[in-house]
Amino acid sequence: MKLKILLIEDHEQNRYLASFLLEKHGYAVVSAADGRTGIELAQTIKPVLILLDIQLPLMDGYAVARELRRDPALRGIPIIAVTSYAMVGDREKSLAAGCNGYLEKPINPDSFVREIERFLPPKQKGEPHDPSLDSR
Ligand code: MN
Repeated sequence: MKLKILLIEDHEQNRYLASFLLEKHGYAVVSAADGRTGIELAQTIKPVLILLDIQLPLMDGYAVARELRRDPALRGIPIIAVTSYAMVGDREKSLAAGCNGYLEKPINPDSFVREIERFLPPKQKGEPHDPSLDSR
């Protein structure tokens, strides 16, 4: 069975690119376009990792992360913040809200999956990684 990654992202093109890259590496991607839907999906599908856009409508990613962290059943799931707000303090705010890591947009297709897999235990990684596919 494929490992599930939950992607909470309101921008369709970003969802498309992230899903494409992750599916290519053997993951199943479940997407949500807003935080509330994302939290409900996290509780239902129990993903191995959550990718969380910070700039979301209605409820921002920090609020989503804090709510995810309040659920004991979800506490062990790594949350990676993904944001184009490359501002001083964003990383700290993400970590303070309960995220385990932080990636800046735009997504780099050559390193995206590898960066995410740093947050997964070895047994939860997708297909074996081929170093020849890495960026040079
Ligand atoms: Mn967004």
